[in-house]
Amino acid sequence: MDQEKKRCLHCDKPIQGRVDKKFCDDSCRNTYNNRQNAANVNLIRNINNTLKKNRNILESLIPTNEELTKTTRERLTRAGFNFRFFTHSYQNRKGNNYHYCYDYGYLALEGDWFLIVRGKDF
Ligand SMILES: [Zn+2]
Repeated sequence: MDQEKKRCLHCDKPIQGRVDKKFCDDSCRNTYNNRQNAANVNLIRNINNTLKKNRNILESLIPTNEELTKTTRERLTRAGFNFRFFTHSYQNRKGNNYHYCYDYGYLALEGDWFLIVRGKDF
């Protein structure tokens, strides 16, 4: 057992020493971890930015002093809305499934129309 040499997660060189080692040395460990962290930070930042952009688009469509509006898929897409990203969903008693980007939500209606709502409680 344990004949197979494990390889360093950073540089892929065979590892000497204990079986549970994952890296050659501290330098490889640090470089690997720093890159992982940077990648995670970037990923999270990009997703947050997309969600915030979606939220701001929804907000911009609702007239001041109103709680909701209707719009088209085309208008949302043209504004740069990304339908793949939302923070949570909510199904009301009628079975309508709303998707939210933070405090603003939308409901797909027939014929590529959307209801946009300002969320009060979620
Ligand atoms: Zn290494």
